[in-house]
Amino acid sequence: MLLDDPTFLTRAQALCDAGRLLSARGACPATSSNFSARLSADSLAITISGRDKGALTPADIMVVDLAGAPRSEGKPSAETLLHSRLYARKPALGAVLHTHSIWPTLFSQLTPEGDVVLEGWELLKAFEGVITHEARLTVPVFDNTQDISALADRVDAWLAAHPKEPCFGYLIRGHGIYVWGDTMAACLRHLEAFEYLFHIELERRRFERVKP
Ligand SMILES: [Zn+2]
Repeated sequence: MLLDDPTFLTRAQALCDAGRLLSARGACPATSSNFSARLSADSLAITISGRDKGALTPADIMVVDLAGAPRSEGKPSAETLLHSRLYARKPALGAVLHTHSIWPTLFSQLTPEGDVVLEGWELLKAFEGVITHEARLTVPVFDNTQDISALADRVDAWLAAHPKEPCFGYLIRGHGIYVWGDTMAACLRHLEAFEYLFHIELERRRFERVKP
């Protein structure tokens, strides 16, 4: 039984806790968003499609392999491939959070597809391995699509083309943000930093009267 497996339960509980925290912040409105955590070299725990992310229990979490195929009961999120391909690309990856957080989502709608560079902010040090505000953090922006497989290919191609560049997440235009980390704690910290940084970037551009 899946719910008797202690590794699964630990990871599933971490996803439930993240859901409560992020829902309270307004990041996952109307059952949107999805979360995952690595279980093994070739499997992950991920939220089942359509559940209220503020009221998750371990019964709302299922297991899929790195090709996104179910390994337990349940209908995986439509965006499962966007999670599983990241774990396949990054062996050290421990957690992925996808939310519809307001500031990254608003920013994504006001910027064309391409790369956004965040620089000059002290909070960049919230990202794993970044030790100075002088760092430059690239965030790729992709047009939204309902063809998840094609989008997963584009994200994977971007990561393959930028192997040395620090990258902790990307935006989907008018949709939301994907963020990752080697642990759930790091992933949550990265997401909170992105929410702050895109908010402050929007305000900076507003004050400078520069259209993002
Ligand atoms: Zn979404």
